[in-house]
Parts: sequence; C-alpha cells; structure tokens
Amino acid sequence: MSGEGLTVRDLRVTFDGFKAVDGVDLDIRPGDLRFLIGPNGAGKTTLVDAVTGLVKAAGSVRFGDEELLGRPVHRIARLGIGRTFQTATVFEELTVLQNLDIAAGAGRGPLTMLRRRKNVPEAVTKALETTGLTDLRDRPAGVLAHGQKQWLEIGMLLVQDVKLLLLDEPVAGMSHDEREATGALLQRVSEDHTVVVIEHDMDFMRSFARSVSVLHAGQVLSEGTVAEVQADTKVQEVYLGR
Ligand code: ADP
Repeated sequence: MSGEGLTVRDLRVTFDGFKAVDGVDLDIRPGDLRFLIGPNGAGKTTLVDAVTGLVKAAGSVRFGDEELLGRPVHRIARLGIGRTFQTATVFEELTVLQNLDIAAGAGRGPLTMLRRRKNVPEAVTKALETTGLTDLRDRPAGVLAHGQKQWLEIGMLLVQDVKLLLLDEPVAGMSHDEREATGALLQRVSEDHTVVVIEHDMDFMRSFARSVSVLHAGQVLSEGTVAEVQADTKVQEVYLGR
C-alpha cells in the first residue's frame, strides 16, 4: 500500500460570515477511494479548495506527517497532492506524450530534474498504460474524446508522483462506457495512491466507491461504505426529502 492518508480535523471555511465548511473531520486512509457526495452548496469544492491551499481555512489538515493549512498552493502540490477540475486542462495542440512529458517535468527544479531524468520515461510509459492511452500517445490531445482528456489529465498527475489525487466530478459529461472505464481506472490508481472524488453521479459512486462521506450544509452528515450511507435515514432525508 502506498499513497498517504489525509486527516482533517475541525476544518472551517467562512466567506463573509457564511460557514461554507463548518467543522469537518475526515480520516482518509492511504489507498482509499473516497467519494465526497452531497447536495449542491454542501461545501465539497470548498473543502477540497482548503486542502489544496486555494482558500484560507481554520482547523487542521494533515497529509502523512505534514500540516497543510497555512502553506501556499505550490508547496502543498509539491508534497504530492494533485487535483483535477471539471474541465480538463490539457495542451490541445500537443500530443498525449508531450502533455505527459511536460507534466513529468512540471514544478521541479533543475537539480531534481537531473536526479529524476532516468525515471521520467518509465513514469510516462506507465501512465500511458494505466490510463489506456498508449495507442493514442502521438495524437494531439485536442482530438481526444472527452473521457480520454480526463484520463490524460489523471495521467498528468500520475507522472508527477502524486500520492493523493483529488478529482472534481471526473465522469461529468461522459458516456456510460467512459464512466465504466473511468471507474476501473480509479480502482487501478487507488491500488498505490489515495483517491478522493467529488461526485454527483450516484450510480457511479455506488459502483466504484470504497468509502463515502456525505456532506450537507458544510458538515459531514454521514460516512461509511456505500451500503452504510445509503441505509442512513439522515442521508435519505437530505436526498429524498423524507
Ligand atoms: P459544493 O461543491 O458542495 O456544491 P461549494 O463548496 O461550492 O459546494 O459551496 C459551498 C457554499 O459556499 C455555497 O453556499 C457557496 O455559494 C459558498 N461559496 C463557495 N465559494 C464561495 C466564495 N468564494 N465566496 C462566497 N461564497 C462561496
């Protein structure tokens, strides 16, 4: 098992007095495939923003032995925390391989690059295999299907040696087959990384989550396996208005 765990304690984010995240505790073990679900406005994105340093937060977020709160975005990223957004941000004119090569070199000083150079091609080859993009390596990223661009973006995190991936609705806009392939990809990735997924697609969550945290009004409403959170009457009330 590799990857690092994420331990969140009493996390709070306030916007002009509004508590977007209001005392969240999370224990995400290394190698988990954790889904964060909850209605719009529940605080999922703000929580991930706080972990990645994009918004100011109070409380504690520990990644392995490191406290993340108070660190700038680039230093958090350098600890091995990678994130995707709903819209894939790949270089459309460059090939799949070039995108991965650039990502593999991103954020590293010349000395680190020198030390690592031998491993980079290997990491790129591995990322191509993991994401199923080997046959498309010489195609411009701009011609990839929507799903393939998302997989490339995940590959671009993998070549950066991330230990924790935070993915924002990775299957939004995907076909059924693309969603299934993405679920299988995330399961493969979580064998040696920790993966956290913000998701609205409940079928996708049911099929692939290893654990689930349900957020509501900035707080953790329920947590556990898919079966456990589905059986929780509090969750049923929030989702089904019972
Ligand atoms: P989710 O991702 O679960 O849909 P968000 O984290 O985006 O929820 O938002 C949580 C709450 O915080 C919402 O009520 C949203 O309007 C508010 N919010 C998010 N970002 C900001 C901001 N930059 N300024 C003010 N309010 C914000």
